[in-house]
Formats: sequence, structure tokens, C-alpha cells
Amino acid sequence: MNKKGNPFFWQDFISVGQLSFPKIKYIFSLADRMSAAVENGQARRDLKNKTVAILFYQPSTRTFSSFLSAALWLGCRRVIAIPGMQAYSSAVKGESLADTIRSIEQTTATNIIILRHPQDSSSEIAAANARVPIINAGSGKKEHPTQALLDLYTIQRELGQLKKLRVAMVGDLKYGRTVKSLAQLLTLADPQVHIDLVAPAALQMPDNLVMRLRRQGAQVKKYAKIEDVITKADVLYMTRIQREWFEKEGQMGLYNRLKGFYVLNRPLMRKAKKKMIVMHPLPRVNEIAPEVDRDPRAAYFRQMRSGLYIRMALLAAALTPSPLAS
Ligand code: ASP
Repeated sequence: MNKKGNPFFWQDFISVGQLSFPKIKYIFSLADRMSAAVENGQARRDLKNKTVAILFYQPSTRTFSSFLSAALWLGCRRVIAIPGMQAYSSAVKGESLADTIRSIEQTTATNIIILRHPQDSSSEIAAANARVPIINAGSGKKEHPTQALLDLYTIQRELGQLKKLRVAMVGDLKYGRTVKSLAQLLTLADPQVHIDLVAPAALQMPDNLVMRLRRQGAQVKKYAKIEDVITKADVLYMTRIQREWFEKEGQMGLYNRLKGFYVLNRPLMRKAKKKMIVMHPLPRVNEIAPEVDRDPRAAYFRQMRSGLYIRMALLAAALTPSPLAS
């Protein structure tokens, strides 16, 4: 670890593959500090003299607003936040991502770039072309590392442990990037974790990832129905069937057959353990009935707040040598 034990200082954060359990714990302790500051209404000053650029090429509610808010809670006054890059940047004129990244770095003198982009390799391309750190805020169908950290942090906060858990992931495990990143983090927290993958065959998690998880020691099983896993799950992680990818791949017929395949409702929740949580990266479409929202085990709204704390922690860690000292 460099700079007083902060392994994130001046580093890109583009993949969960860069993490280890000690690094995760480091971010979690920082996130606890951030949570205390926000709950007490006390903004910090970690990013007082810094500039942050947030470039989003895909729609976003939570990731965009929480990164923006995280920068402001850290005392950053120069935030260049551009949602809709796909429509408003020179990408429309055919500019490459590499050139756009270089341009934003030059024109804003930013200290960090937070990027969301539909291409799987977008963060790697950005990192290869920027001198400042890149944070991956969602890349294609492949990775969503900051979401995975906030998901794991939510599990820790809600259940008080990360070991001996049975985590069921439900829905679109083929296109969904959050489940892919989270599954990998779960094995770092507990190599023997049980992961139950619930999806129609056409939307199962890619085989190479399932094999990698199994090689790392995870007990991974595949199922077709929520009923098959609901009684045993400690975490039920619901996801949306991701219409935009079916559209892109000319598969709308398949989408229309699969949408509405899974709906978590009150009768199903009656079968679940008393101590379990329901999570969802959101947005939901129809896969969690609103009647579940009132169930105390519905953790998906609380999960979003973890996103603010984790993103504050990541920004402070990337831009200050010893954030735990302040
Ligand atoms: N918000 C999450 C993502 O950006 C999940 C989703 O879009 O369904 O991947």
C-alpha cells in the first residue's frame, strides 16, 4: 500500500478485479466516516481544491446524482457534470472516446474523470488516454464496480456479516453488469459463498464467469424460478430485464417473451426467511411489486444511500493521500 496505507490514491478504479478484501475493508471504513459526516449534516473538505468531471453516455438516476452529491459533500466546488454525453458531446460528430477524454482533461483541468459508457472496454480506453484517475461508473454489459462495492456495503450494514451467506441473483444475468461485479466481490469476502443464479436459460450468467467463480471456491447453482431459492436466501438480489440490449441486438421478440418473467410479491415474501434482505440496483420496471416496499426486509431504497457513502469514500481515497486521517 502506498501513501499511508491508502491503496486507492491516484489510481484508476475500473474493475472489481483490482480489489482485495483488505482494500474493500479500507473503503468500508472510509464509507463509515462519510456516513457519520452526512448523517450529522457536516460537509467535509477532502476535495476543497479539486476538480471533478462526471461524463455519462448512458441514462442514470442514482449513480449520476450520488457521484455529483459525493463530490459536493466532500467540499468540491468545481464539478463538471455532463449527463447525455451521447447526445451533446462531439461523439455525435464521430469523435473517439480517447479524444473526448483527452479533451475534457485539457479543457477542465480536472483531477479525476468518472465515466459511464455503453462499451465494455470504455474505462480501459479512458484510462489509457488520461493522465488523471478514471472511475468506472458502469461500462457496457461488463462491470459496475462502484455499484458492487455499495451492494456489498449494504449487505454488511443490513445483515452485519459477509460470511456464510446465500445470495440469490434473479433476472437478467446475461446483460446485467451489477450482478457480474457483485458476484466477484462476494467471492473476495467469502470464497465459499453460495450464489444461486435465477434466470431463464437465455439470460443466464455467462459460462466463463460462472466457471471463474467456481474456481475461486464459490458454490454456484442455476435455477429457473424464485420459488426454488426464496426460502433459503439471505439476500435476494432482483434485477430488471434490460430492454435496451435486446433492442440493440434486434431481439425484441425475446424481450417481449421474457419481460414480466419474475415478479417478487407479498405471497413470495411470506416464504422468505425473517432475517433476509431484498436488494435491487434499480431502476425496477415490474420485477418487485410496490406492495413489497413496506416490508422491512426491502432494502433497495436504503441500498441507494450506501451509494453516496461509497462514492464519497472512493473520491476521497483517489484524490487525497490519507483520507482516514481527516
Ligand atoms: N442501474 C444499473 C446499471 O447501471 C442497473 C440497471 O440499469 O438495470 O447497470
